[in-house]
Amino acid sequence: MPQKTVKLFDLDAYQTEFTAEVLSVEKTKDGYLAVLDRTLFFPEEAGQSSDTGYLDDAAVSRVTVKDGVITHHIDKPLSPSKQVFGRIDFAKRYRNMQNHTGEHIVSGLFKKVFGFDNFGFHLGSADVTIDIMGEPTRQDILQIEALANQAIYDNIPIQIHYPTLEEAQGLSYRSKIEIKEDIRLVEIPQIDLCACCAPHVRRTGEIGMIKLLDFIHYKGGVRIHMHCGRDALHDYHKRYEATSHIAQALSLKQGELIEGFDKFYQSYEERGAALYEWKCALAREKAKGVTQKVGILPLFVEESDPVFIKEFALCAKEKSDCGVCVCSRKGSNQYSFILILNELDVSKHLPTILSALSGKGGGRGTSAQGQFSATEEEIISFFSSFTPVN
Ligand SMILES: [Zn+2]
Repeated sequence: MPQKTVKLFDLDAYQTEFTAEVLSVEKTKDGYLAVLDRTLFFPEEAGQSSDTGYLDDAAVSRVTVKDGVITHHIDKPLSPSKQVFGRIDFAKRYRNMQNHTGEHIVSGLFKKVFGFDNFGFHLGSADVTIDIMGEPTRQDILQIEALANQAIYDNIPIQIHYPTLEEAQGLSYRSKIEIKEDIRLVEIPQIDLCACCAPHVRRTGEIGMIKLLDFIHYKGGVRIHMHCGRDALHDYHKRYEATSHIAQALSLKQGELIEGFDKFYQSYEERGAALYEWKCALAREKAKGVTQKVGILPLFVEESDPVFIKEFALCAKEKSDCGVCVCSRKGSNQYSFILILNELDVSKHLPTILSALSGKGGGRGTSAQGQFSATEEEIISFFSSFTPVN
């Protein structure tokens, strides 16, 4: 049984450098696995990715743990029995510490205020998700967010306890699994008591800010997205850039963005409806100039607007006993078409038309649309000799 790795991160979450003895090194197909007698590298655990950094000049990309033995995934070999100098990426570690401690506050408050249990936590590269068993309303979530930020302003010292199994049995603490040994409790007084092995900040004030974002129904509870600390500041920055951009484009003040946008959108919809009416009127007017024909009447238009073309085709079909095929030029010998027949089943005739004019398209009932690869003359010539019958 290999010896368990001494967890230096348990003693001081802020230490960034250490020395250790290399116990074993194993080559794998994409690098090396190193086990040390002690380490500052926190492994993949507790819903978050591991620390990264260096052991001498070997890059540590991932750290895993099994049965208390911590394995460092590195890109260069180390000599067994040698002393190595390790350093962790503290920017990444601190981000994890801020988000992780923020999760304790939020989950602890959901339990304390509403009695809802936390059943999941994931600290991803984009944001953090917390899964809560319960059905909090938007208002409930805002209440927890306000209390969580109050806990930050109160700058509460965070305490770590290592009770014996007997001592722990007399305590009420949050834990997703039953723990039989090495119990480590993280206490945020008046907020939360939780079994946890991860590094945390010393005081709640270091989290800076907690912002709860969208939530969705998930596995009988809710999944809440959250930003803490520097992540929350970066998110604020991105959102401020976005709202500034929109406010500037619409000549609005930031504080009037919602009302201003609603007015803008209403006017946009009104203009859209007016434009639609105008296109239809123009199409109806143009259709008046179409002359009567027997069979399917091919018509060529300069316009490409679909509203105009459809309305024009609907009005023009009255001028022919079988219907119309309105074509709009797309390129050299390329036309998009809309075919509308008078009480004829389009599916019976479309294959013949597409085959004759190297076309593709589809439709049902009395109308179809698609493209022809043919010249204007070829299209006119085809329809002059084609008479569909039901
Ligand atoms: Zn924790």
